[in-house]
Amino acid sequence: MIRIDSVTKRYPDGTVAVDNLSLEIPDRAITVFVGPSGCGKTTTLRMINRMIEPSTGTITIDGKDITKQPVNTLRRSMGYVIQNAGLFQHRTILDNIATVPRLLGWDKARARARARELMERVGLDGSLAKRYPYQLSGGQQQRVGVARALAADPPVLLMDEPFSAVDPVVRKGLQDELLRIQDELGKTIVFVTHDIDEAVKIGTMVAVMRTGGHLAQFAPPAELLSD
Ligand code: ADP
Ligand code: ADP
Repeated sequence: MIRIDSVTKRYPDGTVAVDNLSLEIPDRAITVFVGPSGCGKTTTLRMINRMIEPSTGTITIDGKDITKQPVNTLRRSMGYVIQNAGLFQHRTILDNIATVPRLLGWDKARARARARELMERVGLDGSLAKRYPYQLSGGQQQRVGVARALAADPPVLLMDEPFSAVDPVVRKGLQDELLRIQDELGKTIVFVTHDIDEAVKIGTMVAVMRTGGHLAQFAPPAELLSD
């Protein structure tokens, strides 16, 4: 379990992005941070993998302070997916997905076999393996991003507005796919979105953030109060 305990992030210019946030992110479930632009969602996500350090407060995983382990060990346990997939433009789809296993020292054949398996898992036709990212639709690129994040089989997936740039019909398909993947693989997923409908659809738990970095509500979708 990831536990965020009294975490505040103040940027050097004085902006308080996250204000005294405390909550527990359950294992093997989808926890969604939702709220308007600028309410501190991305900052929160990035503090979990230490791309950003809290000003005060602590984050623990299974009771251990994340600052007490090597940052590379922490990051290897967390796949990361961003809005425009962030794919390597000069590498094929297969090589994009195989990159992380290769970095972990897997031989080429094994890494590529793993990449093929993941393409199937995220619903990408194998015929796309040798294409480059620009030759795929936005929705397909996001699937590649998810496959790449899953490649080393990390227990945690951090997802920052992963489906926001694709059209509504494609987005619905990606949401369904993520729910299926979560169900099959039991990942701990932390998902950031500004879309309350998306939060309610995919969240096991929903953290509603407000401008100023305040946590307004933290509850299962069915128990959220409307306001
Ligand atoms: P969200 O993901 O909800 O849109 P962010 O976490 O990106 O919110 O940003 C929260 C607040 O912190 C915003 O006011 C934003 O402008 C500010 N912010 C983000 N990054 C920085 C930074 N590097 N320096 C100063 N302020 C920042
Ligand atoms: P979506 O509605 O999912 O975003 P697009 O209209 O962007 O789909 O693409 C539809 C199909 O055309 C997809 O199968 C995609 O792989 C293919 N495609 C898109 N751009 C290119 C390209 N530059 N070269 C080859 N195929 C492409």
